Amino acid sequence: LRIAVLKERASGETRVSATPETVKKFIALGAVVAVEKGAGEGASISDAEYEAVGAEVKSGAVTGADVVLGVQGPEPKALSGVRAGAWIVATLDPFKERGRVDEYASLGLEALAMEFMPRITRAQSMDVLSSQSNLSGYKAVIEAANLYGRAFPMMMTAAGTVSAAKAFVMGVGVAGLQAIATARRLGAQVSATDVRSATKEQIQSLGAKPIFVENVAGIEGEGAGGYATEMSEEYQKAQAELVSSHIAKQDIVITTALIPGRPAPRLISDAQIASMKPGSVIFDLAVAQGGNVEGSVPDQVVVKHGVKILGYSNTPAKLPADSSALYARNLYNFLSAFWDKEKGRPVLDEEIGDAVRLTRDGKVVNERLLGA
Ligand code: NAD
Repeated sequence: LRIAVLKERASGETRVSATPETVKKFIALGAVVAVEKGAGEGASISDAEYEAVGAEVKSGAVTGADVVLGVQGPEPKALSGVRAGAWIVATLDPFKERGRVDEYASLGLEALAMEFMPRITRAQSMDVLSSQSNLSGYKAVIEAANLYGRAFPMMMTAAGTVSAAKAFVMGVGVAGLQAIATARRLGAQVSATDVRSATKEQIQSLGAKPIFVENVAGIEGEGAGGYATEMSEEYQKAQAELVSSHIAKQDIVITTALIPGRPAPRLISDAQIASMKPGSVIFDLAVAQGGNVEGSVPDQVVVKHGVKILGYSNTPAKLPADSSALYARNLYNFLSAFWDKEKGRPVLDEEIGDAVRLTRDGKVVNERLLGA
């Protein structure tokens, strides 16, 4: 089995889909691995490090490949020369990049979207959304702290006391939990909210204060697979009021709220921003999905009413070494879990295969995509 590792071509993408560690493991399984020249550069991995573990490093690494690994979905033209029916394993952004998915189908490729990995216990080690969100939650707090003109921890000094920053995390999924933990470690006073009431306990267990709407219909915002659903109007109104009064007292706000396959919910309005103290900072982790914060712009510090608002179009790419290491392990865990020793290649089962497979035999076959 020939595995090709792509050099990412998307602007601002610093990650790589295989590291010397995972290349070595694929070779131990019996695969031949070819890495595109310079693929690891953005993540500080040299061609020599890949060669040292037995990879071929060359341009045109995809020629003859059975499996192509990427971080983002490759342009179909970057795939000429792959074997018929080759697997493309990457985050393919299937809803936004539907045209590209159709092209993969017409090229006879089998496209596997890693972000469609089911959220089940046995797939946790293959879950790229979790591994990347975790790092994003951390980075959001670090960036917010960097923009904040004050300190996070309380400090008692001879010259007087510096009070602790108040940080508020909106959306307590994987990224939000890490944001809470990071802000706590830096010494902030942390509170958090979500539409899923199950997060209350998680917030408390991290030493933060839950901020929740009580006694309103449509409160249980948990839908299929533990994801958020859209909330009732009554709930949205009550939440907006609660958040408004809370937000006015915050120095740092981190927003992480996403709804799969839909634009990110708007959580913070211009009026709410205006109620905050000048010098406060908002980091919008959902900015690339349309933003949780009114007026946030990807990759720009926007100053509104004296409040700094930032969000990156690709936050994991700001921590390329760690995000690549975890992403690469997710891909290895995925392919190796299904490795058929006799066939010398992975053979997917139905539960996971059907969830991640977008195209096969010239057709789009994924239910989530066909239903969209
Ligand atoms: P996500 O990135 O889809 O969304 C981030 C958070 O925003 C979620 O907690 C969501 O409830 C919240 N949110 C959505 N709309 C909101 C609103 N209007 N106001 C406030 N908050 C809002 O979430 P995620 O990090 O991918 O996690 C989703 C779920 O999947 C969680 O239950 C998580 O524990 C679960 N999960 C399971 C596995 C596994 O078992 N393999 C792995 C990762 C995550």
